Amino acid sequence: MSTQSTRPETQTDLADLIVHLARLGQSTGTTPLTSAQWTALRYFAHANRQSRTPSAFSCFHATTRGTASQTVKSLVELGLLARQTHESDGRSTLLDVTAAGHEMLRRDPLEDLRKALARLAPQNQRALAASLGQVAVDLARLRAAPVFGTCVDCRHCQIETDGHFCQQAQGLVNPNDMAAICINFQPDSASRSGL
Ligand code: SF4
Repeated sequence: MSTQSTRPETQTDLADLIVHLARLGQSTGTTPLTSAQWTALRYFAHANRQSRTPSAFSCFHATTRGTASQTVKSLVELGLLARQTHESDGRSTLLDVTAAGHEMLRRDPLEDLRKALARLAPQNQRALAASLGQVAVDLARLRAAPVFGTCVDCRHCQIETDGHFCQQAQGLVNPNDMAAICINFQPDSASRSGL
């Protein structure tokens, strides 16, 4: 008689695991900001110039413009973000992280998750980044939401002799912005990665 177990094989649901990790990683403990405020502060610290607007942040955070504006306003009032007028469109506002904001980011609760991920073998980190990037692209398409990503994986990015040229902005990309989050990112069909 076979002794093989008839119990179904159980496997953690990946979607549940990702949501659990996100919640656990973002749990703020005794830090003075809410998880929405932390997300906004991180976003504005890592976004390129054309993406540092409240409406781009609302897309990134998959929230309403009203809610995103409230979060931004609270960070401005705390002195962690500063508004400046958009040079080409006087009606829109650009947000910059202040020195106090950068100081606050040194207490980012997400750092523990970053450390746990850094303990994975480099090839596993690369595989995880590629897989999650592909899922982000597919999910954004399903929800008709913009995909955020960086120049290296963007189909608008062209390598020229004098640097990286952005076909969307029609100009050379500032080298400091190559790894910045961009709302105009379009995934290269070869890499299909996003954030
Ligand atoms: S190349 Fe793509 S990601 Fe880079 S600035 Fe242009 S649109 Fe944004």
